[in-house]
Amino acid sequence: MSDPLTDPLTDPVAASVPDGLAQAPVAVVSASSLDVGSDRIELIDSVGVEASKDDQGEHGASQAGHADGSTTAALGRLRRVVKPPIHWSDMGLDQRKEGMRRLGLPAFRADQISRHYFERHETDPATWSDLPQAARAQVMEFFPELLHDLVDRLADGGTTVKSLYRLFDQVLVECVLMRYPRHARSELGGEADDRSTSPGVRSTLCVSCQAGCGIGCPFCATGQAGLQRNLSAGEIIEQVRRAIVALNSGDLPLGAGNLNNVVFMGMGEPLANYRAVMTAIRAICAPVPAGFGVSARGVTVSTSGMVPRIKDLAGEGLPLTLAVSLHAPDDGLRDELVPLNRRWPVAEVLDAARGYFETTGRRVSIEYAMMRDINDQGFRADHLARLLNARGSGWAHVNLIPLNPTPGSKWTASRRRDEADFIARLESHHITTTLRDTRGQDIDGACGQLAARFS
Ligand code: SAH
Ligand code: SF4
Repeated sequence: MSDPLTDPLTDPVAASVPDGLAQAPVAVVSASSLDVGSDRIELIDSVGVEASKDDQGEHGASQAGHADGSTTAALGRLRRVVKPPIHWSDMGLDQRKEGMRRLGLPAFRADQISRHYFERHETDPATWSDLPQAARAQVMEFFPELLHDLVDRLADGGTTVKSLYRLFDQVLVECVLMRYPRHARSELGGEADDRSTSPGVRSTLCVSCQAGCGIGCPFCATGQAGLQRNLSAGEIIEQVRRAIVALNSGDLPLGAGNLNNVVFMGMGEPLANYRAVMTAIRAICAPVPAGFGVSARGVTVSTSGMVPRIKDLAGEGLPLTLAVSLHAPDDGLRDELVPLNRRWPVAEVLDAARGYFETTGRRVSIEYAMMRDINDQGFRADHLARLLNARGSGWAHVNLIPLNPTPGSKWTASRRRDEADFIARLESHHITTTLRDTRGQDIDGACGQLAARFS
C-alpha cells in the first residue's frame, strides 16, 4: 500500500501501488523554462508539504519539513513548482512598506492601498484617485490577475454558484458560494457571522487551497487527479474577494449580502499547505483594512487528519472551526478511504481533534461521507459513537455527508433507510448528528468534479 507522503514518481515502492491509491503524476515545471526568480520556486513533496528555507540542508540538499516533524532528506522526493506572482494580499506589513520604499512612495500609501483592496475590494489601481497618477501605474505590479474566470455554474435557483478559475500556469481550481435563508442552519459547519445587509440570508464560500490533492481518497474527484501544486495565499484570498464582490453587487438571487462563512472544503488538503492557508485565514478574519473582517468562528478548516498540523492549528489563537474527515471508525477501512490514515490512524486523529477542542473550546465537526455498503452499517455507527464518547461528551458532533458519486466510480450514496438508521444509532449514544444537504449536485457538486470535467 502506498504511503501518501511518499512520491510515487521517485519512490520504487510507491510506484508499484495499486491504481486508484497512487498519486497521479503532477505537472512539474522547471524554473528555467519560465525564467522566474528563485523567490518564485517552491519545493514540495507529493502531498504539498513545503520545504521551508530552514529545511535547507547544509550541503545544499533540501529537506522537506514533513508534518510529523521529520524531514525527507532525499532531494529526489521533492518537486520544484513555480509559484504564482506575488500579490498585495500575499505580503506582510513589512513587505508592503518595503514595496513602497522601493517604488519611492511614502509608507502611508500602503495603508491606502490596503483599504482599496480589503475594504472596497478593488484591484485596479488605475481608478484609485487618492494616489498620485504616477503611483497608480507603479503599484499595478502588486495586483497581478491571479484568477481567470473560466465558467460559473448556477444551481438551486441561483443560490449556489460554482466558479471555475484558471490560474497563471493553466491549472484549474473551483470555488462554491452557497446562500441560505436565515432560518436554515449552516450546512457546512461553523457559526454564522451575523453581519448581513440582507438580513434573511447567510452566505458560505467553499474555497480551494491546492490545485488537486495528494492524499488520494478514492471517492473524491480531487484526489483522483493527484496534486498539481499548492495555491498561494493570494490565490486563496482572491477567491474570497471575488465572492464578496459578487455578494455586494446585489446581482445574485436573494439580493446583496455579506460573506458570513468560509470553509476550506474545496480542492486540496489545507493542512498540507499550512503556511499559505494561515496567511489567507488571517487576511480573511483580520478587521479592515488588514483583512476582510469575517469572524474566525465562521471559518472552517477541514482536514483528512494531519495530526501534527491539527496541533499547530490549535496553537494559532484563533477560534476557527475544525472539521475532521473521518469517514470510518476502523483503521482497516479508513486506510482505504483516506490513505493518510496509514500515517496517522483513527485514534491519533481523534486524540488530536479532542486536543483541539480542549485548547480552543471549539466543538469539532466529524465529517462522515455515507457510502453505500462501505461505511454505512449500524455497527460502524456504534463504533464511531464509542470512540467519540471515550474521549468525553459534547466535544464533537457528527456531520453526515451524502456521497456525491464521482463519474465512473464504484462509490455511491447510501440508501435513505441506512442513513436514517445510522443517525438514530449515533443519537442513541447521545452524539449530536446532522445530515448535510446536497447543494449543487447538478453542477458537479462534489469537490473537484467541475475541474475534473474541464481538465
Ligand atoms: N481535504 C480536506 C478538505 C477538502 S474535501 C478534507 O478531506 O477534509 C472536503 C470534504 O468533502 C471532505 O470531508 C471530503 O471527504 C468530502 N468529499 C470529497 N469527495 C466527496 C464526494 N464525492 N462526496 C461527498 N463528500 C466528498
Ligand atoms: Fe484530498 Fe480531501 Fe479529496 Fe481526500 S477528500 S483527496 S484529502 S480533497
